[in-house]
Amino acid sequence: MTIRHESVDTCRALVLFGATGDLARRMLWPSLYALHKEGLLPGAMQLVGAARQPLAAAEFVQRVRESIRASANAALYDDATFEAFARRIRYTAVTVGEAHGLDALGPAIAPGPGGIIYYLSTGPDLFGTIALGLHAAGLVDEHSRIVVEKPIGHDAASAEAVNHALGSAFGEHQIFRIDHYLGKEAVQNLIALRFGNAIFEPLWNATAIDHVQITVAETVGLEGRWGYYNGAGALRDMVQSHLLQLLCLVAMEPPAAYTPSAVRNEKVKVLWSLRPITGERVLRNTVRGQYAGGYIDGKGVPGYLEEEGAGGTSDTETFVAIRAEVDNWRWSGVPFYLRTGKRMKQRASEIVIQFKPAPFNIFAGLGQGLDANALLIRLQPDETITLSLMHKKPGLNQMQLGEVSLDLSPGSGFATARRRIAYERMLLDVLRDNPALFVRRDEIEASWRWIDGILEGWRTAGMPVTPYAAGSWGPDWATGAAAFPWRYL
Ligand code: NAP
Repeated sequence: MTIRHESVDTCRALVLFGATGDLARRMLWPSLYALHKEGLLPGAMQLVGAARQPLAAAEFVQRVRESIRASANAALYDDATFEAFARRIRYTAVTVGEAHGLDALGPAIAPGPGGIIYYLSTGPDLFGTIALGLHAAGLVDEHSRIVVEKPIGHDAASAEAVNHALGSAFGEHQIFRIDHYLGKEAVQNLIALRFGNAIFEPLWNATAIDHVQITVAETVGLEGRWGYYNGAGALRDMVQSHLLQLLCLVAMEPPAAYTPSAVRNEKVKVLWSLRPITGERVLRNTVRGQYAGGYIDGKGVPGYLEEEGAGGTSDTETFVAIRAEVDNWRWSGVPFYLRTGKRMKQRASEIVIQFKPAPFNIFAGLGQGLDANALLIRLQPDETITLSLMHKKPGLNQMQLGEVSLDLSPGSGFATARRRIAYERMLLDVLRDNPALFVRRDEIEASWRWIDGILEGWRTAGMPVTPYAAGSWGPDWATGAAAFPWRYL
């Protein structure tokens, strides 16, 4: 399939299920507003908010206004632009799962040419019901698209069931599974860096690369989401989606072209090549942790079991470290260290490509050591790309060396645009009908199969969670052991 790049004018409405929820407030309405302000939404496109609460239109619009003013896009707000934006907005109360629960939706969408985009920002248990309900109500045609948030399922079987329900109502080419990490500039730049330059690819393999670290460290705790999180844990919540998607982009072979199918074909091959971590192998290749109370930025924070809504005990991991391997010619023997945790010392999402050391140090006689080169792609808190290189320190010294970070971030070469919410990019790609940065059905199912192996291994090995202090870098033996190198230690 090639990118269709349809004009965005082919969309007549975007229906946002979960329009009153956290994600809609913090990310989706502010992103839609930014696209409107830049003239990127089709002129006549309606924005239909749908959720259970019965809200008057004016009250809902006021909530949208407040959410934009409180968001990362607050600086874009002005009254006149918002008034024009508000003219696009409708609100309709729906109750998914009840007979006739979607009846109010059809009449709320103005008739006209062009397709309807359904964005499901509700709990994932409702995805299948909504898709089938829309189909049954005659609200799906060949121009419709459906966007679903993560997580899709909680294991391979449930992911297949959700995908099956989505596929009963929509063609695969109409389904956009979001992983908003792929909308980040630095992630897209990783693709540009790898395949837009000749100098990296010859080094991008087991001959030159020692290991890869992919880290998503959060300082936040549960943020009131005990109900969801305690049933999921860090492996399902973060590794299955964001970390494995990043791993795919690092490890994939060059696609034949930058088209959605070519890119996604290469990504799924990486997932198929992941060595299963099952049975006793979990004991050597994974670490599970759960945060206890501690301090972050000097402020006391509660432990996992004292969080709002917590039950008395829980074996859910809030930290996981995995030594993964990609069994193919390019990567044989190169560990990929995946690591994610809540209530960590610092917020940091990044990929480190750690190259092997120079084969011989000609400066050793001068007492100079050499640090191996590393390519660092940071996604949070800032989006940067740096390459660490050894340089001579300036001056009349004989030959003193030091490590210098070469800034390869786009900001250093291009006029920097404002920093965007990743959802702006993702929403625009849905409008353009370009699924390159969305996750295909076979990718979701392959990643769950690998995750299921680890979960089953944890169960059979009876592997408990190891406590770690909030504000630390995780359990000692995950962070300190030589088997799990980490840039932060
Ligand atoms: P949330 O705050 O709990 O919001 C859920 C929304 O769904 C509300 O608008 C709620 O409306 C609506 N809803 C619930 N049950 C409904 C029903 N039976 N019929 C119709 N509407 C219903 O959830 P969220 O945090 O925004 O998350 C939304 C989705 O995004 C989830 O799939 C989540 O996993 C995913 N996600 C969220 C984040 C995030 O940062 N929040 C990040 C990544 C992915 P009312 O309560 O007003 O009726």
